Amino acid sequence: MNPSNPCFSFEFFPPKTDEGTANLLRTLEDLAPLEPGFVSVTYGAGGSTRDRTIELVTRIKQTTGIEAMAHLTCVGHTREELHDVLQKLKEAKVENVLPLRGDPPQGQKEFVPTPGGFRYASELVNFVREEDFTFCLGGACYPEGHVETASRDDDLRHLKAKVDAGLDFLITQLFFDNAFYFDFVERARRAGINVPIVPGIMPITNYEQVQRFTRLCGATVPMRLGLQLERVKDQPESLVQLGVAHATVQCMELLARGVPGIHFYTLNKSPATRMIVSALRARS
Ligand code: FAD
Repeated sequence: MNPSNPCFSFEFFPPKTDEGTANLLRTLEDLAPLEPGFVSVTYGAGGSTRDRTIELVTRIKQTTGIEAMAHLTCVGHTREELHDVLQKLKEAKVENVLPLRGDPPQGQKEFVPTPGGFRYASELVNFVREEDFTFCLGGACYPEGHVETASRDDDLRHLKAKVDAGLDFLITQLFFDNAFYFDFVERARRAGINVPIVPGIMPITNYEQVQRFTRLCGATVPMRLGLQLERVKDQPESLVQLGVAHATVQCMELLARGVPGIHFYTLNKSPATRMIVSALRARS
């Protein structure tokens, strides 16, 4: 990743139907002119999308020519099952993987590791490296601290161990106030974490959705943005315009301060992301 040529990446989740997959592949063709560095495909809660994630990254690589990264979580999997998924990704010539712990299943407060599986993402990273897979590995990190952690210092210590296990880069949880990112990067560098830290940006396109996500992941909505959202919550077009404008301003500041790239949480709604990236490209 080169700060003078920042890498834009787009995240998608695997659609549930064949028609949805066909639509997504068409969307990707539309996005191709924006020259994404890669697109990533999430891994559904509890391993529920295992086959669809593998199939989609494979198809993206084979049909669009865009580099694809597969997310992979420890939830509900033994190490043998995880090995099997990694082997399939390797055979499909997928080169990038995002190993994650995953969230506890709905209704469960604490993460309980599967017998014969892993408790933390760092153990999965270790496993990938010990088994001699040669993937480029990304990892998740949390500028405002992970929701389960008692202290941000502990969180950073755990992150350092995860990076040292063999990560090549990090992608942050979404945030709406860049101050959290800049402060986090500074603390990470002081803690000896030296890999690129790619900011994760989610353009707001839906009021209820942003309420739900921020509740789940603990991201702060700055008061001014919160008031603006409240004002347009029943006007879908104005809400998207506000979301796009806010994310564009965030991205412009991040790029001006030399971030290695920007990862967009598209939620499979690419028009907002396309507007933002087009505006950013037009300025560069
Ligand atoms: P970890 O790095 O294992 O951290 C989890 C918690 O354990 C943290 O609080 C950490 O501080 C703590 N911890 C770590 N090591 C130790 C230790 N040795 N001792 C004590 N505590 C420790 N979820 C999905 O289900 N599918 C996806 O595709 C997906 N993609 C994501 C992509 C990105 C970029 C991000 C930021 C998140 C994504 N998530 C996804 C959500 C993620 O699974 C959750 O945030 C999950 O709760 C933590 O995963 P992790 O890999 O960060 O876990």
